[in-house]
Amino acid sequence: MSSTLRFQVVGEAFKKRPVEVAEPKERPSEFFGKYVFNRQKMQQFLPASVYEKMVDVIDHGATLDLKTADAVAEGMKRWAMGLGATHITHWFQPLTEGTAEKHDGFVEHDGRGGMVEEFTGKQLVQQEPDASSFPSGGIRSTFEARGYSAWDPASPVFVMGDTLMIPTVFIAYTGEALDYKAPLKKALHAVDKAATEVARLFYPDVQKVITNLGWEQEYFLVDEGLYAARPDLLMTGRTLMGHDSAKNQQMDDHYFGSIPERVAAFMKDLEIQALELGIPCKTRHNEVAPNQFELAPIFEETNLAVDHNMLLMSLMKKVARKHGFRVLLHEKPFAGINGSGKHNNWSLATDTGILLHAPGKTPLDNLRFITFIVETLMAVWRHNGLLKASIVSATNAHRLGANEAPPAIISSFLGKQLTDVLEHLEQATDDEISLSGKHELHLGIPQIPELLIDNTDRNRTSPFAFTGNRFEFRAVGAEANCASAMIALNAAVAESLMDFKARVDRLIAQGVDTLKAVLTVVREDIKTCKPIHFEGNGYSNEWKLEAARRGLDVEASVPLVIDRYLDDDSVKMFEKTHVFTRSELLARNEIKWDTYTKKIQIEARIFGDLCMNHIIPVATRYQSVLVENVHRLQEIFPKEEARELNDNNIALIREISEHTRFITSQVTALIDARRIANRIDDEREKAIAYHDTVAPLIEEIRYHVDKLELIVDDELWPLPKYREILFIR
Ligand code: ADP
Ligand code: MG
Repeated sequence: MSSTLRFQVVGEAFKKRPVEVAEPKERPSEFFGKYVFNRQKMQQFLPASVYEKMVDVIDHGATLDLKTADAVAEGMKRWAMGLGATHITHWFQPLTEGTAEKHDGFVEHDGRGGMVEEFTGKQLVQQEPDASSFPSGGIRSTFEARGYSAWDPASPVFVMGDTLMIPTVFIAYTGEALDYKAPLKKALHAVDKAATEVARLFYPDVQKVITNLGWEQEYFLVDEGLYAARPDLLMTGRTLMGHDSAKNQQMDDHYFGSIPERVAAFMKDLEIQALELGIPCKTRHNEVAPNQFELAPIFEETNLAVDHNMLLMSLMKKVARKHGFRVLLHEKPFAGINGSGKHNNWSLATDTGILLHAPGKTPLDNLRFITFIVETLMAVWRHNGLLKASIVSATNAHRLGANEAPPAIISSFLGKQLTDVLEHLEQATDDEISLSGKHELHLGIPQIPELLIDNTDRNRTSPFAFTGNRFEFRAVGAEANCASAMIALNAAVAESLMDFKARVDRLIAQGVDTLKAVLTVVREDIKTCKPIHFEGNGYSNEWKLEAARRGLDVEASVPLVIDRYLDDDSVKMFEKTHVFTRSELLARNEIKWDTYTKKIQIEARIFGDLCMNHIIPVATRYQSVLVENVHRLQEIFPKEEARELNDNNIALIREISEHTRFITSQVTALIDARRIANRIDDEREKAIAYHDTVAPLIEEIRYHVDKLELIVDDELWPLPKYREILFIR
C-alpha cells in the first residue's frame, strides 16, 4: 500500500460513522436461549416418552436407541425449520484452532421425482466428515482416512443462521480421539467418579460431581480498514512490526474509561446474539491495553462452557465484521502493551448443591473444603509441567513470562487466610484437633467461612490462584480451546482424588476412623505439595531460581514444554483416568509440534516479505531524498559550510544504511534458518529448530524495522502505525 492509501484508511477509521445499535423488543430473560433446543423446547417438540428418555440420556448417560433418535430428530427438525433452518451440520472441535462443520441440506428425494425435508436419527447421531484433511498426528494414514463425528447429547443443539448445529465428538474409526471434546468428556467423567467417592466420605448422599468453568475472554478490536492494511495482522493475527505508540497504557486510562460508542454497539449486539444462543453473558468491560476488552459469562458445567466459549469466539468474529471491526484473539497482537488471556475459573460441585472448593459452616464442611483444596494442589504440584504444556502455544509464548501474565512456571497462590489454615493443620498437635467421631470433629480453626469471604487479596502474577470458592487458571491463552487446560487439570485432579481415596481406604481398613483417616492423609499431603504454593511475585527473577530449586518445571521453550505430555507420570495419569492412551498422546504431540512449526513458519515468511518489499524500499527511498538534499546543499553553499549543514543528513543516511544492511542480511539468514529447519523430518526436532533459530531472528530484525519507523518520513511509511490502530474512536 502507498502512504496516501494509509492516510485514507486511517482517515476512514477515525471518521465519525453512524453506529447501529441493536434494540431488541424483548428482555434478556425472554430471548435467552431462543435458538437453543433446550429442555423447554424438547418438552414442547418431543413426545413425552421421548422427552423422558432424552433426560435420562443427558443426565445419566443412558444409551440412545435409533428409534428415540429418529423421534428426537423429527422434533428438532420441526423446531429448527420454524426458525428458518434449511441445513444441519455436525459441529466439532478438531485439533486445529476453532471449530469445524460440514453442512448438509435437510432435503432428500421423495421417490416421486420431488424433494422432502428430512432429518433422521442416524444423521443426528453420526456423520462421517472427510477426516483426512484434519490433523491426526499419523493416527490414520490417508487411505483409511475415516473418522466419524458423534452427537454429544449433553450439549444442546442450536440454530445459527440457516443451520441446525449439532455439537459432536470427532473420533477415528480405530477409536482414538481426533478432537478436544472426546477427551474432555472422559476427563470430566473421571473427575466426577473420583470426586464423588471422596465427597461421599463426608456426605453419603452425593451421586454426582459437576465441574464448573467460568471463562473470562479477553480480546482486541481493530478497525477493519486498518486491519486490512496490515498484512501481518491479516495473516498471523499479530503485528510483527510497529514501534510503540508514545501513549499506550501507561496512564491506565483505558481500564476505567468509558467504552467507545462503536465498541459499545458491538458489545451489545454480541451479547444479544450470545444470549439467544444460550451463552449466559454477564460481564463486559475495558481491559488494561487500549482497544482491549473482556467478556465473561456466568460459569456453567465445563463441557457446555467449553462449547459456549468456542461458539462465542466465532460469534465475536462475525459480529465484529458487521460493526466494521476485526476481533483479535491472538495472545499478543501488539508488542509493548498487554496481551490477552482467558482466565479459567474452575471448581467442583455436588449434585446436592455443595461447592466442594468453598468453605462451609461446620467443621465437617471445612475438612471437606480443605481436602478438595489440598488434593487439587497435589494434582497441580505433581503435574505442574503438564499443566503448563496444556496452555503453551506459539502465540501464548509471547504473553507468558512477559510482565503482564503469569510466568512460564505453574504455582498456586492461596492468600493469607488459607495459607494460615493449612499451616495450622500441618503443625497442630493431635490434642488441638479432636476427632472423636463426626459430631465432635474439631479442627481448631474457627470461622473459615468468615475469614475467606473477604479474599480479595488477589495476586495477579499467579498462574493458578485460589479465589474464595474456586481456582482461577490464568495462564490459558485468549485464543485457546479451554478444553486443553480442562482436560489436563480435571484428569490430574481425578488421579489425585483416586490416590487420596485409596490411602484413606487403607487406613480405614486398618481400623482408623474415617475422618481421622482423611485428616491424616490431608496433613501428609499439605507437606508434600508445599513446593507448588507461592505467594510472592511471580514476575521476579528470584522466583525463577527459587522455583527451579523447588523442582518445579521452569522450561520456557514451547516445543520442549510439550514433551511433558509424554513423561511417564503424565502417561500413567492419563491411562489410569482413561482419558488418553499413550498412542493418542504421541499422535497429539506430533500435531502440537507441527502446529508450532507452521505458526512460526508463516510468521517468518510474512515478516521476510514485509521487510523486503515494504520496509527496505521506503527506507531506501527516504535515504535517496536525504542524499539528494546533500547534493543540493553542496551546490548552493561553500564546501565547508555545506559539510557542516550536511552533518545531520549524513548521520541519518548512515543510520538508515546500518538498519537496512542488518535487515537485508538477517532476512537472508532467516530464510536460511527456515530452509535448514524444513529439511528436518522429525516434528519435534523441527519445532525445536524453529524455536531456537527462526523465532529469535524475527524479534532481532524487528528491532531495526521499528527504529526505521522512527526515522523514515511519515508520509512514506506504508503500514498503519500503533498510534493509528490502537485508539478506536
Ligand atoms: P473476576 O474478578 O475474576 O473478574 P468474576 O466474579 O467476574 O471474577 O468471575 C469470573 C468468572 O468466574 C465468571 O465466569 C464467574 O461466573 C466465574 N465463577 C464464579 N464463581 C465460580 C465458581 N465457584 N466456579 C467456577 N467459576 C466461578
Ligand atoms: Mg478473574
